[in-house]
Order: sequence, then C-alpha cells, then structure tokens
Amino acid sequence: MDAQRRQGFAVLLQRQREALLRQLAAATSVKGSLAARREPGTPSAPWDTSRSAAGTGRTHQALEKVDAALARLAAGSYGTCTTCGREIALDRLDLVPATAYCLRCARHPPRADTGVTRLTAAWAKFYRR
Ligand SMILES: [Zn+2]
Repeated sequence: MDAQRRQGFAVLLQRQREALLRQLAAATSVKGSLAARREPGTPSAPWDTSRSAAGTGRTHQALEKVDAALARLAAGSYGTCTTCGREIALDRLDLVPATAYCLRCARHPPRADTGVTRLTAAWAKFYRR
C-alpha cells in the first residue's frame, strides 16, 4: 500500500473515531438527563438502561476496532490480515476501513468473532448434509 492511500485511510479512520466519540458522548448525556429527570425513589426502567448499555457497548467495540486499525497504520501493518498475514483487498478496506481480516478470514474466522457468523456456519453445515 502506498503512502498516499495510507494517508487516505488514516483520515477516514480518524473521522470514524470522532463520530464514534460523539455518539458515546451523546449516549452518556442522554442517560444522565434521564436519571436527573426521574423522581427520587422511583425505580429506573431496566429496559431503557440495558438497551442504551448494549448500544454504547457496540460503539465501544467499534471504537476499539478503529483504534486498533490506527495503531496498525502507525506500525505499518495496516492492510494485512491479522489472521493469515495476506493483504486485505483495497475495495474491502474502502468498505470497512477498520477491518483486521481479509474477506476469507472474515467469512471463516478461526475463532468465532460474532454470534451471527457462528449461526451462519451452523446453517451452512446443516444444508451441506
Ligand atoms: Zn486472512
């Protein structure tokens, strides 16, 4: 990957990072204002807090991925799959700049990354029989 492209991805990732930080800040202030509005002694609505916690959890995860990608950019390993060491296709990086995996490893993770991937793999196995 040439320096110009690396710079382009750095700008893209920084922008994503700023957007995620803004999302986190907004989520925190909403939670704070809800808590402040509540009458003292009234129980909080558990569905509200758990839903926003799951939301900020996802944002945190996304932020971690972006941070890791920026660290790989600084280390010079950006664009290389962290699982198999092959180059990640540029059109994939254009779509998902923070990705650490090539398409192959993202589709067939050695360790299941997400429940969705696990489920899809289970179905694929089922239909192959
Ligand atoms: Zn790979």
